[in-house]
Amino acid sequence: MSHPCMTCGACCTQYRVAFHWMESDEVTPGGVPHQLTEPLDPHRLCMRGTLSKPVRCVALDAEIGVYSRCSIHPNRPSVCREVDASWEFGKASPQCDKARAIHGLPALSLESWAWRDAPDHPDAA
Ligand code: SF4
Ligand code: SF4
Repeated sequence: MSHPCMTCGACCTQYRVAFHWMESDEVTPGGVPHQLTEPLDPHRLCMRGTLSKPVRCVALDAEIGVYSRCSIHPNRPSVCREVDASWEFGKASPQCDKARAIHGLPALSLESWAWRDAPDHPDAA
């Protein structure tokens, strides 16, 4: 087993990814690559591909349900960091559950994280 997000990517195809323009690497070193954004309003940018439907973030490298990676993971917007995978931190995530359901993927459960308890996992006690 591995992290469920690595075979998913559903949430990067469902929601508008909007954030304050200060997060852009034009003004904040190490920020969100500006060329992958577009203006939303005077205060906010959004990731290209998420402003109108069908939504698919331009930074997403994925076949939903098979493999997935965020091509700007270390520099992704704050809003992306705030979306938890269901039960990763002990509670369900409605955004995760809804996005997966739209793609016909089952909601994650506590069992989805059992691999973290394996004796050879770095997080194991
Ligand atoms: S929908 Fe959930 S499992 Fe899928 S990538 Fe997003 S947070 Fe991870
Ligand atoms: S920036 Fe990365 S994590 Fe955020 S929506 Fe796009 S692909 Fe997903």
